[in-house]
Amino acid sequence: MQDFRVLPSVDQVLTSPEGLALTEEHGRLAVVTAVRAGLEIAREKIRAGDDGATLAADLPRRIAEELAAAARSALRPLINLTGTVLHTNLGRAILAEEAVSAASAAMANPLALEFDLDGGGRGQRDDHLRGLLCELTGAEDATIVNNNAAAVLIALNTLADGREAIVSRGELIEIGGAFRMPDIMARAGARLVEVGTTNRTHPRDYEGAIGPETGVILKVHTSNYRIEGFTAEVPAPRLAEIARRAGVPLLNDLGSGSLIDLSIFGLRREPTVAEAVAEGADLVTFSGDKLLGGPQAGFVVGRRDLIAAINRNPLKRAVRLDKIRIAALEATLKLYRDPDRLKERLPTLRFLSRPEVDIGAQAARLAPAIDALLKPHGYSAAACTCQSQVGSGALPVDTIPSAGLRLTGSGGDAPERLSARLRALPIPVVGHIRDGALVLDLRCLESDEMLIAALAAL
Ligand SMILES: *Cc1c(COP(=O)(O)O)cnc(C)c1O
Repeated sequence: MQDFRVLPSVDQVLTSPEGLALTEEHGRLAVVTAVRAGLEIAREKIRAGDDGATLAADLPRRIAEELAAAARSALRPLINLTGTVLHTNLGRAILAEEAVSAASAAMANPLALEFDLDGGGRGQRDDHLRGLLCELTGAEDATIVNNNAAAVLIALNTLADGREAIVSRGELIEIGGAFRMPDIMARAGARLVEVGTTNRTHPRDYEGAIGPETGVILKVHTSNYRIEGFTAEVPAPRLAEIARRAGVPLLNDLGSGSLIDLSIFGLRREPTVAEAVAEGADLVTFSGDKLLGGPQAGFVVGRRDLIAAINRNPLKRAVRLDKIRIAALEATLKLYRDPDRLKERLPTLRFLSRPEVDIGAQAARLAPAIDALLKPHGYSAAACTCQSQVGSGALPVDTIPSAGLRLTGSGGDAPERLSARLRALPIPVVGHIRDGALVLDLRCLESDEMLIAALAAL
């Protein structure tokens, strides 16, 4: 006998003590919607033969759970123990405190974004960053857009719309997602002229391709892979010379584009932006949220006349930056004025430069506590060594010796099951699975208590 009458009405649930408490917390509309959905599911179950009285008794708990799950954001902070410092899927760079404060003040207050405080007239939003970028890169001028993909797009469109863009076959990269150099060039209106081969491109290849239709020579930093073996690329200074002689601008897309020499932190040297400028590129493009350690942004630095042309391009308005990120970028770039303290203040560099012994000591310290927390759930934890990566396509084949916790359990799918449980925590913990264990690389963990508190919620 299917008895729907044991179920309460929507009104009865809403006016019950539980219903009133939920309305107080989540608002009436959300609770009404959740109650209706809960009742619909209960009716279906009764039709399928389930006991109505049990379902009715369980209803408030189910509705409360639904509402709590809907209120929780998937964008809540998590603990990145993947070992990849600049993890694109986890939001890349963590901002410095100075940048967070500046962004938060910009969010909550009016500010002189396009207003000249001295003269009281109109100002330019890029002016807040222009001087800093020129100072840090040695470039004549700079413009700022939404991300580096937009920087490449607008630079190509400005220099080579309806004209030819020459690029080596060894540099026709895909960054991930839908960002493939040939597609971006097509969208920018440039006709792609490929030169050389996958592994070798010579000066004569570029020289032979330059003609009256050439709008730009493009050099792309092969950020996320490395061609090894029998290879040849034309060094940037030589390419700049070829471009200058032909009267064609050279655009160098650096991708990550570090502002400082990373070898002082024991990492492999990446070309710095200042070097790319000094090597004679007319324009250099790079990202804000990769090695630079700021918010998402794209920069074009270089020749004043070319930057002015980019700023006149109607696309500029479509890819411009908002006040929040401009404020965060200004604060981030200012940190670079004091390189001695940069490593302490900029989280990206702080993480990347953490010595292995430090992380190893942290792992040894944490292992017993984490092991004790996991034991009741059938898992154990032990300190281990592991390898971190920079991420976001920087230094793709390099790893940095690190340390962490190796979490194991019984059963072949133990790492996957544990990984899913840690991702579902109120503060999710994200590691990576390797050799039949879930490994938590501690390089980016600055507080032991944070991990212990997160795992205590298991
Ligand atoms: C990462 C990268 C881009 C894209 O930069 P975003 O800031 O992610 O838009 C373009 N070119 C190169 C060489 C890159 O490494």
